[in-house]
Amino acid sequence: MSRMVIESSVREAGTDPIFRVAGEAAQRTKELGTEAVINSTIGALMDDHGDLVAFKSVFDVLKGLPDEQICDYAGIPGIPEFLDKVVDACFKSYRPEGHIRAVATPGGTGAVRHAVCNYTEFGDQILIPDWYWAPYSTIADENRRETTTFELFDEAGNFNMKSYKAAFTDLLKKQNRVLSILNTPAHNPTGYSISLDEWKELTAFYTEMAEANPDARIIILCDIAYIDFAGKGEDARAFMPLLSGLPENVLPLYAYSASKGFTMYGLRNGAIICVAPTEEIAEEFAAACAYSNRGTWSNGTRGAMQTLADIMSDDNLRDRFIAEQDFHKGILQKRARAFLDEADKIGLKLCNYCDGFFISIPCENPKAVSDLLMEKNVFIVALAKGLRFAPCAVSEEKCRKAPQLILDAIKEV
Ligand code: PLP
Repeated sequence: MSRMVIESSVREAGTDPIFRVAGEAAQRTKELGTEAVINSTIGALMDDHGDLVAFKSVFDVLKGLPDEQICDYAGIPGIPEFLDKVVDACFKSYRPEGHIRAVATPGGTGAVRHAVCNYTEFGDQILIPDWYWAPYSTIADENRRETTTFELFDEAGNFNMKSYKAAFTDLLKKQNRVLSILNTPAHNPTGYSISLDEWKELTAFYTEMAEANPDARIIILCDIAYIDFAGKGEDARAFMPLLSGLPENVLPLYAYSASKGFTMYGLRNGAIICVAPTEEIAEEFAAACAYSNRGTWSNGTRGAMQTLADIMSDDNLRDRFIAEQDFHKGILQKRARAFLDEADKIGLKLCNYCDGFFISIPCENPKAVSDLLMEKNVFIVALAKGLRFAPCAVSEEKCRKAPQLILDAIKEV
């Protein structure tokens, strides 16, 4: 007798490519010191010395909470103050018209899980781009679903409408139901943000598809994990009102994550939010997702929910938090600019980067290029279609240095 887990739960351990490279980077940093190593494996904001950034404006509030508020259960759907304020944090001044409900989840991951489990059937395919955050397919697989991809970029490096519409139409024909996950703005791993014009074309397409197929169900999950590091002020949210007032068989959902925006990564805080066309669909959403909470992790981290609610309810706390977030957004934007300028100067080809934690470099043999770079103390994640560089974790000076090293390695492989 060799195995106790069921057939579909047989997994290979230690295969996560990011953690493998990250482990080696940490080891090399220990041996040679921070200055000698470019560690671009981490998907979190790091300061120029390689230390994780934790917003003081957030942790002062969390640490000021009474112990019993931190340790208590949060209630299955989340505490009411959080459910109210997370909607403000999600939409800010771009709150769409519609029946809005939120259910707390442990990070954006939990929101993706609930969308997959409640809005697709077993065996269904979920529509994602060909450059994508790997856990989408893990979540689908873990929950007995699959993913199918469209090409994210056209020849000009913009959103590939043709590929998206073709894949969408195929799925709708096959399943009479499509869950499309769009990680925008500041897409992981490329940094692409769907433009307002592209959103207008997308919403017109959803309307057309929904009207032509009145029995079909169309669910658009906007994964906005990096939204607070995109655009100027609140303008990265300008697309949100476009995703409302659509036919009743189109449901816009948002996967809200407090991981990056509030530097709450390990506190596991987020929400799934709907902008439903009717009260009935909103109630159905809230009931299904609360039930899913009970049947998976039961409830979320109360102290983290209270912290977000307190910050979003108090002008002073909120101003202090936004100022700190803006300061770090500025640093990130400068680092990314340094990388882009240098890449442009030396002719290193990149995916169309707009904003966010990551920049992607399309190339052949990404794993071999990443292995070669490791020998030169540059640690960068290899993806299926290229490499992922993380300006969120690398100083401006190193962001300027990296493109040449990457280009040399690509040429050498
Ligand atoms: N979506 C994308 C594309 C991400 O990169 C992440 C985090 O890395 C998330 C969602 C959600 O993260 P969390 O569950 O930590 O909020």
